[in-house]
This record gives sequence, structure tokens and C-alpha cells, in this order.
Amino acid sequence: MKPQIAVVGSVNMDMVFKTPRMPVPGETLMGHSFHQVHGGKGANQAVAAARMGAKVHFVANVGDDLNGQSCVQALVQDGIDVQHVRVMAGSATGVAGILLDDAGENCIVLTTGANALMSTADIDKAGNTIAEAKLLLCQLETPLATVMHAIACARRANVKVVLNPAPAQVLADELLCQVDFLVVNETEAALLSGVAVVDVVTAERAAAALLARGAKVILLTLGALGMWVATPANAYFLAAFEVEVLDTTAAGDTFVGSFAVAMAEGRDVRAACMFAQSAAALAVTKLGAQTSIPYREAVERQLL
Ligand code: ADP
Repeated sequence: MKPQIAVVGSVNMDMVFKTPRMPVPGETLMGHSFHQVHGGKGANQAVAAARMGAKVHFVANVGDDLNGQSCVQALVQDGIDVQHVRVMAGSATGVAGILLDDAGENCIVLTTGANALMSTADIDKAGNTIAEAKLLLCQLETPLATVMHAIACARRANVKVVLNPAPAQVLADELLCQVDFLVVNETEAALLSGVAVVDVVTAERAAAALLARGAKVILLTLGALGMWVATPANAYFLAAFEVEVLDTTAAGDTFVGSFAVAMAEGRDVRAACMFAQSAAALAVTKLGAQTSIPYREAVERQLL
């Protein structure tokens, strides 16, 4: 039996322009190349969870445009249930315009489009699906009130909650208290804890501060270094897998989606983190967002 996971989150089309350098205001610059990839933290995490073997029920909004159709089609190809992905008449699908220059700099313009219109009524429509899941997964690319409503819905049904508070924003303790597993990178941890995270020592300090704010388990990811785990019972560092890095896009999303599946399967936190780190390490060896998310078999193989 596949574990059932509900994901509430965003759908974006990433439009990536490779350029020799960044344009200046008023300039038209000839780029090297363009490619279009399916993204959005919600969709990426849903895809990661599906590729790790879960039955994923995705709750999201897209616009009534070609980008929306293409994004939903990609989700369906990954076996994701899109019954609660609403097509909003007259609105655009979220788009990220990404400029990447030869020096490795990037500039991003994000228009959230239909993601910003996700309402508590959308969550209510998916209420039974959320209540029947083993676990709920949320991020912050959809309105906070909607995310909070989804979390409340899960809590009423004793469904465990994984929150990836990205992009980073200030959150109240009342929300953090509702979260079973808080997955943060250095930036999110720093904003929510007030501790600048630059190494393992400061990660330990930040995670302790986040536990004190009410979240039950903290998973603080540290890029190529690995991660810091803090629970009320213990706290420890786990090293990342050593791999050849090509593109770190979606490493965090792959981690979150894979961690959710491992927990939904009943693994302990340490084993679930190693599973998720194995998946995330494979994601950095490939280009793109959803294109780089690995399948379970390769993740298990790396763990042997
Ligand atoms: P985010 O993308 O949200 O900033 P991180 O960069 O912390 O997240 O990455 C999440 C996880 O992905 C890390 O804990 C680690 O396991 C894995 N990871 C990220 N970058 C690398 C890397 N260069 N090599 C190996 N694993 C990596």
C-alpha cells in the first residue's frame, strides 16, 4: 500500500534565460539560450513524493493558460492526483522569469498568479482528502491564511504536518506549535530563530531556538554540508552524500518530499533524513527542477 500524502502548494512555470551578463535598465541583450521547466515548491515537492513511491494528492491553483495545462499534465504523468488542482478562469499560472549569467549570478522575477488566489474555501473542498492522508506537506508560496487553514484541517484529523517555510517569512509561535516537522534551510532558520546560521555550531543554536518556539522536530538543511536534526529528545548532525554538483535547484524540495514519504512509511527521523539526503544529493547531479528529481530505486541504491 502506498502511503497517502496531501501537498498544499504552488505551481510555477520557470522560464530560464542564460545570458552573458545581466542587462541594464533599457537594454535589450542577446541571450545564449532559453528553456522552460515545470517548477513551484509545491509541485516540486509533490513530484518528489510521488517519485519516492507515495500516492500524492495535490491541492493547488493554476491559471487557465498553456503554462497551467503543461504543469498539470506533468503532474499527471508522475501519477499525482490533481482532482484538487483548480483552474482559475481569467488568471495566469505562476511564472518565474530567471536570468542566469556567465558569472553564475541570477536574477529572478516571480509573479505568483493563481497561487496567490488560493483560498480557505479551496482547502475546505479538499478537506476529506487532507483528513485521510498520512501526512500533510506545505510551503509558503501560497497565502499564509490558506496554509494555516490546511494545517488546522490536518491537525483536527490527527494528520502529521510537515512545513517548509519557504520563501522565508516571519511566523507566529501559534503556527509553529502546530508543526510536527519543520524543514528549514540556513536562510529560513535564521529568519525564524534570529540566529545567523553559518556552520554546524550556529545551526545547533538556531534549531534549539526553533524547538523553543514550539515546532516538534527541526530539520535544518545545510547544503553540501548536510543537516542538523533537533528533537525534544536529542540533536545531531548528519553529513550529506558526496556527489558531483551540477545544479542545486530543487535540492531542498527533493529533500522535503522524500522526507515526507519516509516518515509516512513509518521510518524513524534519522532514517527518513538519510533517505531524503540521498534523494537530494542525486537531484544536485542533474540540471533543472522537476527534471532533476530522482526515482526511489536510485535513492535506495545510494543508501546501500
Ligand atoms: P535549499 O535548496 O532549500 O537551500 P539545501 O541547499 O540546504 O536546501 O539542500 C537540502 C539538502 O540537499 C541538504 O541537506 C543536502 O542533503 C542536499 N544537498 C544540497 N546541496 C548538496 C551538495 N552540493 N552535495 C550533496 N548534497 C547536497
